[in-house]
Amino acid sequence: MAKHRVTLIPGDGIGPEIADVTKACIDATGVQIEWDIQHAGVDIMETAGTPLPDSVIASIRKNKVALKSPITTPVGTGFRSVNVALRTALDLYACVRPCKSYEGVRSRYRNIDLVIVRENTEDLYAGIEFQKGAQETKELIDAIARLGQKKIREDSGVSIKPISVFGSERIVRYAFEYARKNGRKKVTAIHKANIMKFSDGLFLEVAREVAKKYPDIEFNDRIVDNMCMQLVQSPEMYDVLVLPNLYGDILSDLCAGLVGGLGVAPGANIGENGALFEATHGSAPKYKGLNKVNPCAVLLSGVLMLRHLGEKEAADRLENATADVIREGKYVTYDLKEDRKDPTAVGTKEMGQAIIDRMKVLK
Ligand code: NAD
Repeated sequence: MAKHRVTLIPGDGIGPEIADVTKACIDATGVQIEWDIQHAGVDIMETAGTPLPDSVIASIRKNKVALKSPITTPVGTGFRSVNVALRTALDLYACVRPCKSYEGVRSRYRNIDLVIVRENTEDLYAGIEFQKGAQETKELIDAIARLGQKKIREDSGVSIKPISVFGSERIVRYAFEYARKNGRKKVTAIHKANIMKFSDGLFLEVAREVAKKYPDIEFNDRIVDNMCMQLVQSPEMYDVLVLPNLYGDILSDLCAGLVGGLGVAPGANIGENGALFEATHGSAPKYKGLNKVNPCAVLLSGVLMLRHLGEKEAADRLENATADVIREGKYVTYDLKEDRKDPTAVGTKEMGQAIIDRMKVLK
Protein backbone atom coordinates (compact mmCIF):
# COMPACT_ATOMS: atom_id res chain seq x y z
CA MET A 1 0.00 0.00 0.00
CA ALA A 2 1.20 3.50 -0.81
CA LYS A 3 2.39 5.52 2.15
CA HIS A 4 0.37 8.62 1.24
CA ARG A 5 -2.84 9.28 -0.66
CA VAL A 6 -2.98 12.66 -2.37
CA THR A 7 -5.68 14.33 -4.46
CA LEU A 8 -4.21 15.53 -7.77
CA ILE A 9 -6.19 18.17 -9.68
CA PRO A 10 -4.70 18.54 -13.18
CA GLY A 11 -6.77 21.71 -13.81
CA ASP A 12 -7.12 23.24 -17.29
CA GLY A 13 -5.16 25.42 -19.73
CA ILE A 14 -1.47 24.66 -19.11
CA GLY A 15 -2.48 22.79 -15.92
CA PRO A 16 -2.58 19.15 -17.15
CA GLU A 17 0.82 19.19 -18.89
CA ILE A 18 2.45 20.71 -15.79
CA ALA A 19 0.63 18.23 -13.51
CA ASP A 20 1.94 15.28 -15.58
CA VAL A 21 5.52 16.48 -15.26
CA THR A 22 5.14 17.27 -11.55
CA LYS A 23 3.65 13.86 -10.81
CA ALA A 24 6.50 12.15 -12.70
CA CYS A 25 9.12 14.15 -10.77
CA ILE A 26 7.49 13.46 -7.38
CA ASP A 27 7.15 9.75 -8.20
CA ALA A 28 10.83 9.73 -9.19
CA THR A 29 11.76 10.74 -5.61
CA GLY A 30 10.66 7.23 -4.61
CA VAL A 31 8.04 8.45 -2.13
CA GLN A 32 5.07 6.11 -2.38
CA ILE A 33 2.04 8.20 -3.28
CA GLU A 34 -1.33 6.94 -4.46
CA TRP A 35 -2.70 9.76 -6.61
CA ASP A 36 -6.46 10.30 -6.49
CA ILE A 37 -6.93 12.22 -9.75
CA GLN A 38 -9.87 14.62 -9.64
CA HIS A 39 -10.91 16.87 -12.49
CA ALA A 40 -12.07 20.46 -12.12
CA GLY A 41 -12.10 23.51 -14.35
CA VAL A 42 -13.46 24.67 -17.70
CA ASP A 43 -12.68 21.41 -19.56
CA ILE A 44 -15.19 19.41 -17.51
CA MET A 45 -17.95 22.02 -17.28
CA GLU A 46 -19.92 20.58 -20.17
CA THR A 47 -19.91 16.99 -18.97
CA ALA A 48 -20.09 17.64 -15.22
CA GLY A 49 -22.34 20.72 -15.41
CA THR A 50 -20.03 22.50 -12.97
CA PRO A 51 -16.33 23.36 -12.93
CA LEU A 52 -16.11 22.07 -9.34
CA PRO A 53 -17.86 18.71 -8.78
CA ASP A 54 -18.58 17.84 -5.12
CA SER A 55 -16.38 14.77 -5.55
CA VAL A 56 -13.30 17.01 -5.73
CA ILE A 57 -13.99 18.58 -2.35
CA ALA A 58 -14.94 15.18 -0.89
CA SER A 59 -11.63 13.74 -2.11
CA ILE A 60 -9.58 16.51 -0.45
CA ARG A 61 -11.58 16.17 2.78
CA LYS A 62 -10.77 12.49 2.78
CA ASN A 63 -7.11 12.63 1.74
CA LYS A 64 -6.35 15.91 3.58
CA VAL A 65 -3.66 16.77 1.04
CA ALA A 66 -4.06 17.98 -2.56
CA LEU A 67 -1.77 19.18 -5.32
CA LYS A 68 -3.50 21.42 -7.84
CA SER A 69 -2.48 22.75 -11.23
CA PRO A 70 -4.01 26.09 -12.32
CA ILE A 71 -7.68 26.45 -13.20
CA THR A 72 -9.21 29.14 -15.41
CA THR A 73 -11.87 31.40 -13.97
CA PRO A 74 -14.49 31.45 -16.73
CA VAL A 75 -15.62 35.01 -17.46
CA GLY A 76 -19.35 35.74 -17.72
CA THR A 77 -20.70 32.23 -17.03
CA GLY A 78 -22.00 32.83 -13.52
CA PHE A 79 -19.36 30.52 -12.02
CA ARG A 80 -17.11 32.14 -9.50
CA SER A 81 -13.48 31.13 -9.22
CA VAL A 82 -12.95 27.42 -8.56
CA ASN A 83 -9.74 28.37 -6.76
CA VAL A 84 -11.56 30.66 -4.33
CA ALA A 85 -14.45 28.18 -3.97
CA LEU A 86 -12.02 25.42 -2.93
CA ARG A 87 -10.32 27.62 -0.35
CA THR A 88 -13.70 28.67 1.07
CA ALA A 89 -15.30 25.20 1.07
CA LEU A 90 -12.34 23.71 2.93
CA ASP A 91 -11.68 26.79 5.10
CA LEU A 92 -8.06 26.88 3.97
CA TYR A 93 -7.31 29.97 6.00
CA ALA A 94 -3.55 30.24 5.58
CA CYS A 95 -1.93 30.99 2.24
CA VAL A 96 1.78 30.32 2.48
CA ARG A 97 4.07 31.56 -0.26
CA PRO A 98 7.81 31.09 0.11
CA CYS A 99 9.78 33.50 -2.09
CA LYS A 100 13.28 32.23 -2.56
CA SER A 101 16.02 33.18 -5.03
CA TYR A 102 17.20 30.43 -7.33
CA GLU A 103 20.48 31.13 -9.07
CA GLY A 104 19.88 31.27 -12.81
CA VAL A 105 16.49 32.97 -12.58
CA ARG A 106 16.78 36.51 -13.88
CA SER A 107 16.11 38.97 -11.06
CA ARG A 108 17.38 42.27 -9.70
CA TYR A 109 17.98 40.66 -6.31
CA ARG A 110 19.99 37.74 -4.95
CA ASN A 111 19.67 35.63 -1.81
CA ILE A 112 16.03 36.45 -1.11
CA ASP A 113 14.43 34.02 1.31
CA LEU A 114 11.08 35.32 2.53
CA VAL A 115 7.86 33.57 3.45
CA ILE A 116 4.48 35.25 3.08
CA VAL A 117 1.70 33.98 5.37
CA ARG A 118 -1.54 35.52 4.11
CA GLU A 119 -4.93 35.29 5.81
CA ASN A 120 -7.26 33.74 3.24
CA THR A 121 -10.84 34.18 4.50
CA GLU A 122 -11.51 37.71 5.79
CA ASP A 123 -10.81 41.34 5.00
CA LEU A 124 -12.03 43.07 1.84
CA TYR A 125 -11.99 39.64 0.13
CA ALA A 126 -14.82 38.32 2.31
CA GLY A 127 -17.15 39.12 -0.60
CA ILE A 128 -19.46 41.45 1.37
CA GLU A 129 -20.21 44.00 -1.31
CA PHE A 130 -22.90 46.56 -1.97
CA GLN A 131 -23.46 47.70 -5.54
CA LYS A 132 -23.87 51.37 -6.41
CA GLY A 133 -27.54 52.33 -6.60
CA ALA A 134 -28.94 49.06 -5.12
CA GLN A 135 -31.65 49.32 -2.45
CA GLU A 136 -29.49 47.51 0.15
CA THR A 137 -26.68 49.94 -0.54
CA LYS A 138 -28.99 52.87 0.11
CA GLU A 139 -30.16 51.24 3.35
CA LEU A 140 -26.57 50.62 4.42
CA ILE A 141 -25.56 54.21 3.65
CA ASP A 142 -28.56 55.49 5.63
CA ALA A 143 -27.80 53.16 8.55
CA ILE A 144 -24.18 54.30 8.64
CA ALA A 145 -25.29 57.94 8.74
CA ARG A 146 -27.82 57.11 11.51
CA LEU A 147 -25.07 55.43 13.53
CA GLY A 148 -23.25 58.74 13.61
CA GLN A 149 -20.58 57.81 11.12
CA LYS A 150 -19.61 59.95 8.13
CA LYS A 151 -22.06 60.47 5.28
CA ILE A 152 -21.18 58.20 2.36
CA ARG A 153 -21.99 59.66 -1.07
CA GLU A 154 -25.17 58.14 -2.54
CA ASP A 155 -23.44 57.15 -5.77
CA SER A 156 -20.97 54.90 -3.94
CA GLY A 157 -20.31 51.19 -4.13
CA VAL A 158 -19.29 49.74 -0.76
CA SER A 159 -17.06 46.79 0.19
CA ILE A 160 -16.90 45.70 3.81
CA LYS A 161 -13.63 44.82 5.55
CA PRO A 162 -14.22 42.38 8.43
CA ILE A 163 -11.21 41.39 10.55
CA SER A 164 -11.88 39.22 13.59
CA VAL A 165 -9.96 38.19 16.69
CA PHE A 166 -10.56 34.54 15.67
CA GLY A 167 -9.21 35.00 12.13
CA SER A 168 -6.26 37.12 13.20
CA GLU A 169 -5.27 34.84 16.04
CA ARG A 170 -5.23 31.67 13.97
CA ILE A 171 -3.23 33.20 11.11
CA VAL A 172 -0.64 34.81 13.40
CA ARG A 173 -0.36 31.60 15.40
CA TYR A 174 0.11 29.72 12.12
CA ALA A 175 2.94 32.12 11.14
CA PHE A 176 4.75 31.59 14.45
CA GLU A 177 4.29 27.81 14.33
CA TYR A 178 5.61 27.83 10.75
CA ALA A 179 8.60 29.90 11.89
CA ARG A 180 9.36 27.44 14.68
CA LYS A 181 8.99 24.34 12.52
CA ASN A 182 11.11 25.75 9.72
CA GLY A 183 13.94 27.27 11.75
CA ARG A 184 12.91 30.84 11.00
CA LYS A 185 13.97 33.64 13.31
CA LYS A 186 11.52 36.50 12.89
CA VAL A 187 7.84 37.22 12.20
CA THR A 188 6.72 40.64 10.96
CA ALA A 189 3.03 41.62 11.08
CA ILE A 190 1.94 44.00 8.32
CA HIS A 191 -1.00 46.39 8.72
CA LYS A 192 -2.33 49.91 8.35
CA ALA A 193 -3.41 50.22 11.98
CA ASN A 194 -2.71 53.93 12.08
CA ILE A 195 -5.65 54.53 9.72
CA MET A 196 -7.94 51.48 10.12
CA LYS A 197 -7.88 51.30 13.89
CA PHE A 198 -10.72 48.83 14.37
CA SER A 199 -9.81 46.30 11.67
CA ASP A 200 -6.04 46.47 11.10
CA GLY A 201 -5.66 47.82 14.64
CA LEU A 202 -7.34 44.68 15.96
CA PHE A 203 -5.11 42.48 13.79
CA LEU A 204 -2.03 44.18 15.25
CA GLU A 205 -3.29 43.97 18.83
CA VAL A 206 -3.97 40.24 18.45
CA ALA A 207 -0.58 39.71 16.73
CA ARG A 208 1.21 41.34 19.68
CA GLU A 209 -0.65 39.07 22.11
CA VAL A 210 0.13 35.90 20.15
CA ALA A 211 3.78 36.96 19.80
CA LYS A 212 4.17 36.90 23.61
CA LYS A 213 3.66 33.12 23.51
CA TYR A 214 6.65 32.69 21.19
CA PRO A 215 9.56 34.34 23.02
CA ASP A 216 12.02 32.30 20.93
CA ILE A 217 10.94 34.08 17.73
CA GLU A 218 11.57 37.80 17.20
CA PHE A 219 8.47 39.84 16.42
CA ASN A 220 8.00 43.27 14.91
CA ASP A 221 5.39 45.07 12.82
CA ARG A 222 5.39 47.39 9.84
CA ILE A 223 2.86 49.66 8.18
CA VAL A 224 2.11 48.21 4.76
CA ASP A 225 3.23 51.16 2.61
CA ASN A 226 6.51 51.42 4.47
CA MET A 227 6.91 47.64 4.18
CA CYS A 228 6.65 47.83 0.38
CA MET A 229 9.51 50.32 0.30
CA GLN A 230 11.61 48.31 2.73
CA LEU A 231 11.10 45.08 0.78
CA VAL A 232 12.37 46.79 -2.34
CA GLN A 233 15.31 48.44 -0.52
CA SER A 234 16.43 45.83 2.00
CA PRO A 235 14.52 42.55 1.71
CA GLU A 236 17.25 40.72 3.64
CA MET A 237 15.98 42.32 6.86
CA TYR A 238 12.82 40.21 6.76
CA ASP A 239 11.96 36.56 7.26
CA VAL A 240 8.31 35.47 7.78
CA LEU A 241 5.64 38.09 6.98
CA VAL A 242 2.08 37.67 8.28
CA LEU A 243 -0.64 39.75 6.65
CA PRO A 244 -4.40 40.21 6.34
CA ASN A 245 -5.86 39.09 3.02
CA LEU A 246 -5.54 42.15 0.75
CA TYR A 247 -2.01 43.19 1.76
CA GLY A 248 -1.04 39.51 1.55
CA ASP A 249 -2.26 39.34 -2.03
CA ILE A 250 -0.36 42.44 -3.07
CA LEU A 251 2.88 41.67 -1.22
CA SER A 252 2.87 38.08 -2.54
CA ASP A 253 3.24 39.47 -6.04
CA LEU A 254 5.81 42.02 -4.92
CA CYS A 255 7.89 39.24 -3.36
CA ALA A 256 7.41 36.96 -6.39
CA GLY A 257 8.84 39.87 -8.38
CA LEU A 258 11.89 40.01 -6.09
CA VAL A 259 12.76 36.41 -6.97
CA GLY A 260 12.15 36.63 -10.70
CA GLY A 261 8.42 36.15 -11.18
CA LEU A 262 5.62 33.66 -11.45
CA GLY A 263 7.57 30.78 -13.02
CA VAL A 264 9.20 29.91 -9.68
CA ALA A 265 6.53 31.01 -7.17
CA PRO A 266 5.00 28.04 -5.32
CA GLY A 267 2.26 28.18 -2.71
CA ALA A 268 0.10 26.33 -0.23
CA ASN A 269 -3.37 26.92 1.18
CA ILE A 270 -3.70 25.31 4.56
CA GLY A 271 -6.50 24.76 7.08
CA GLU A 272 -7.73 22.28 9.65
CA ASN A 273 -9.56 20.29 6.93
CA GLY A 274 -6.64 19.87 4.60
CA ALA A 275 -3.81 21.42 2.67
CA LEU A 276 -3.88 22.35 -0.99
CA PHE A 277 -0.62 23.06 -2.79
CA GLU A 278 -0.64 25.21 -5.92
CA ALA A 279 1.44 27.67 -7.93
CA THR A 280 0.83 31.40 -7.76
CA HIS A 281 0.45 31.60 -11.55
CA GLY A 282 -2.72 30.89 -13.51
CA SER A 283 -3.68 28.65 -16.42
CA ALA A 284 -2.06 30.78 -19.18
CA PRO A 285 -4.57 29.48 -21.77
CA LYS A 286 -2.61 30.82 -24.75
CA TYR A 287 0.12 28.26 -24.05
CA LYS A 288 -2.24 25.31 -23.57
CA GLY A 289 -0.98 22.03 -25.08
CA LEU A 290 2.21 23.58 -26.46
CA ASN A 291 4.63 21.83 -24.05
CA LYS A 292 6.21 25.24 -23.57
CA VAL A 293 5.69 26.57 -20.06
CA ASN A 294 7.81 26.33 -16.94
CA PRO A 295 6.72 23.51 -14.61
CA CYS A 296 8.78 24.78 -11.62
CA ALA A 297 6.11 26.69 -9.68
CA VAL A 298 3.82 23.64 -9.43
CA LEU A 299 6.85 21.40 -8.96
CA LEU A 300 8.10 23.55 -6.06
CA SER A 301 4.56 23.47 -4.65
CA GLY A 302 5.03 19.69 -4.76
CA VAL A 303 8.24 20.16 -2.76
CA LEU A 304 6.24 22.04 -0.11
CA MET A 305 3.73 19.19 -0.17
CA LEU A 306 6.43 16.57 0.38
CA ARG A 307 7.68 18.56 3.41
CA HIS A 308 4.09 18.75 4.70
CA LEU A 309 3.88 14.95 4.35
CA GLY A 310 7.06 14.63 6.41
CA GLU A 311 9.15 13.54 3.39
CA LYS A 312 11.96 16.00 4.03
CA GLU A 313 14.78 14.13 2.33
CA ALA A 314 12.76 13.63 -0.88
CA ALA A 315 11.65 17.27 -0.78
CA ASP A 316 15.23 18.51 -0.43
CA ARG A 317 16.42 16.23 -3.24
CA LEU A 318 13.67 17.39 -5.61
CA GLU A 319 14.28 21.05 -4.74
CA ASN A 320 18.05 20.70 -5.16
CA ALA A 321 17.64 18.95 -8.52
CA THR A 322 15.28 21.70 -9.69
CA ALA A 323 17.70 24.40 -8.47
CA ASP A 324 20.61 22.67 -10.26
CA VAL A 325 18.74 22.46 -13.57
CA ILE A 326 17.73 26.13 -13.31
CA ARG A 327 21.29 27.18 -12.40
CA GLU A 328 22.84 25.23 -15.28
CA GLY A 329 20.36 26.97 -17.62
CA LYS A 330 20.60 24.32 -20.36
CA TYR A 331 17.41 22.28 -20.06
CA VAL A 332 15.11 25.14 -19.12
CA THR A 333 11.93 26.59 -20.60
CA TYR A 334 11.87 29.82 -22.62
CA ASP A 335 11.06 32.07 -19.67
CA LEU A 336 14.26 31.05 -17.87
CA LYS A 337 16.50 31.82 -20.83
CA GLU A 338 18.38 35.13 -21.09
CA ASP A 339 16.56 35.78 -24.37
CA ARG A 340 12.94 34.54 -24.39
CA LYS A 341 13.27 33.70 -28.09
CA ASP A 342 16.33 31.50 -27.48
CA PRO A 343 15.79 28.45 -29.77
CA THR A 344 17.64 26.18 -27.32
CA ALA A 345 14.83 26.49 -24.75
CA VAL A 346 13.32 23.09 -23.98
CA GLY A 347 9.70 22.12 -23.36
CA THR A 348 7.86 21.42 -20.10
CA LYS A 349 8.40 17.64 -20.39
CA GLU A 350 12.09 17.92 -21.24
CA MET A 351 12.75 20.20 -18.29
CA GLY A 352 10.93 17.70 -16.04
CA GLN A 353 13.08 14.87 -17.45
CA ALA A 354 16.26 16.88 -16.79
CA ILE A 355 15.15 17.29 -13.16
CA ILE A 356 14.47 13.55 -12.86
CA ASP A 357 17.91 12.80 -14.35
CA ARG A 358 19.53 15.23 -11.93
CA MET A 359 17.79 13.59 -8.96
CA LYS A 360 19.35 10.24 -9.92
CA VAL A 361 22.80 11.86 -9.61
CA LEU A 362 21.91 13.37 -6.21
CA LYS A 363 20.75 10.05 -4.77
P1 NAD B 1 -1.44 33.55 -15.78
O1 NAD B 1 -0.54 33.40 -14.59
O2 NAD B 1 -2.19 32.36 -16.23
O3 NAD B 1 -0.59 34.03 -17.01
C1 NAD B 1 0.03 35.30 -17.17
C2 NAD B 1 1.28 35.17 -18.02
O4 NAD B 1 2.34 34.68 -17.21
C3 NAD B 1 1.17 34.15 -19.15
O5 NAD B 1 0.65 34.70 -20.31
C4 NAD B 1 2.61 33.73 -19.33
O6 NAD B 1 3.28 34.66 -20.13
C5 NAD B 1 3.15 33.79 -17.94
N1 NAD B 1 3.14 32.49 -17.27
C6 NAD B 1 2.24 32.02 -16.36
N2 NAD B 1 2.57 30.81 -15.95
C7 NAD B 1 3.71 30.48 -16.61
C8 NAD B 1 4.55 29.33 -16.59
N3 NAD B 1 4.30 28.26 -15.83
N4 NAD B 1 5.63 29.32 -17.40
C9 NAD B 1 5.92 30.37 -18.17
N5 NAD B 1 5.18 31.50 -18.23
C10 NAD B 1 4.08 31.55 -17.45
O7 NAD B 1 -2.41 34.77 -15.44
P2 NAD B 1 -3.73 35.28 -16.18
O8 NAD B 1 -3.49 35.31 -17.66
O9 NAD B 1 -4.09 36.51 -15.47
O10 NAD B 1 -4.82 34.19 -15.86
C11 NAD B 1 -5.23 33.14 -16.73
C12 NAD B 1 -6.32 32.34 -16.04
O11 NAD B 1 -5.79 31.70 -14.88
C13 NAD B 1 -7.50 33.19 -15.54
O12 NAD B 1 -8.69 32.51 -15.81
C14 NAD B 1 -7.26 33.29 -14.05
O13 NAD B 1 -8.45 33.47 -13.34
C15 NAD B 1 -6.64 31.95 -13.76
N6 NAD B 1 -5.82 31.93 -12.53
C16 NAD B 1 -5.84 30.77 -11.82
C17 NAD B 1 -5.05 30.68 -10.68
C18 NAD B 1 -5.08 29.38 -9.92
O14 NAD B 1 -5.42 28.34 -10.48
N7 NAD B 1 -4.76 29.40 -8.65
C19 NAD B 1 -4.23 31.72 -10.28
C20 NAD B 1 -4.18 32.88 -11.07
C21 NAD B 1 -5.00 32.97 -12.19
